[in-house]
Amino acid sequence: MNAFEYNANPGRVIFGSGSIKKLPDEIRRLKLSSPLLLTTPRQANLIDLLESVLNSSSPSIKPAGTFTKATMHTPYHITQKALSYVQTITADCIISIGGGSTTGLGKAISFNTGLPHISIPTTYAGSEMTATLGETKDGHKTTRHDRRILPGTVIYDVDLTTSLPATISATSGINAIAHAVEALYAPNGNPITNLLALEGIKALAESLPEIVQDPTSQPARERAQYGAWLCGTCLGTVKMSLHHKISHVLGGSFDLPHSETHTIVLPHALSYSAPAIPGAMAKLASVLPGSDGDAIKGLNALLEKLRVKKGLKEFGMREEDVQRAAEIAVENPYANPRQVELELVKELIRRCWAGEEAR
Ligand code: NAD
Repeated sequence: MNAFEYNANPGRVIFGSGSIKKLPDEIRRLKLSSPLLLTTPRQANLIDLLESVLNSSSPSIKPAGTFTKATMHTPYHITQKALSYVQTITADCIISIGGGSTTGLGKAISFNTGLPHISIPTTYAGSEMTATLGETKDGHKTTRHDRRILPGTVIYDVDLTTSLPATISATSGINAIAHAVEALYAPNGNPITNLLALEGIKALAESLPEIVQDPTSQPARERAQYGAWLCGTCLGTVKMSLHHKISHVLGGSFDLPHSETHTIVLPHALSYSAPAIPGAMAKLASVLPGSDGDAIKGLNALLEKLRVKKGLKEFGMREEDVQRAAEIAVENPYANPRQVELELVKELIRRCWAGEEAR
């Protein structure tokens, strides 16, 4: 066995159907009493749910305030607006309920104010398991890593995911799989993270097609959320490579939607690095149904079953932006199993733009 170093993140997880009802106890366990509630405009109804859960506990907990303007890619101006609002209320903690956009805003406020953060994820993005904050300003997405960014408690309540539309469930699930795929060949990879990655990918690869058939399936939703947790843990534990770099650039500089972009890029980025990672490709193939020992074939088959969009042009990216995206993606060095070269990355992004099948 190769030598390795392993750092576990210290978050606490409460998992299971109906676990949102444990929120008041968790707030009291932390000796807190006055939360700020966060979500996106589209999920503003979840604030009512939180309020009713907090209100029905004994003694009841009264929120200090609500902010429902969380936005994808954590724009700096939204964070500033939220921070100004925080100054006008007397919150002693943050509760974020929603997908990665809401979790990101919760992390940004928590990092800037020191307020404890309880995260209640409703997609499969995995941000709640990482000590990373991506923020966008002036068309550039920058990333900050700090132990203090990691939410202290995460509540995974499957009941909150059944409303996630099949299309977003599919791409969000592939976003999670992408974290685990890159963990399999991370420069600081280790046997523990590999176990989490393979178990997480298997759970999602098996459950996502069932969710697309029936978004209300409780067993499939539960398995997908379990997989997303494990894949998010991988993201929070080891370094990511070319796939995450390209997706980050496309989201941050070209405002492309996060999970949809990850879904399109993954098979192409994997195919780019495949010649340098035969061991990881074999392990990945072993957990992808229908792969016949070929991970790219397995991934293509999964995407086909999920009926996802295949080309970045379908999300409004212009062909002339391919060159610029490739330049930004290679401008700073980072670890990747196969050397990152501008012309090859440009062709990779062009294929993603056109919606060609990965080989
Ligand atoms: P999102 O949070 O923007 O959610 C997508 C849409 O789905 C939103 O309109 C949201 O309101 C809606 N939605 C979410 N859950 C729902 C549900 N259960 N039912 C109905 N609608 C629901 O998208 P996302 O893909 O979850 O997160 C993307 C963001 O997270 C990006 O900003 C990305 O950079 C960030 N992210 C960060 C990390 C990290 O470790 N820092 C990891 C993953 C993602």
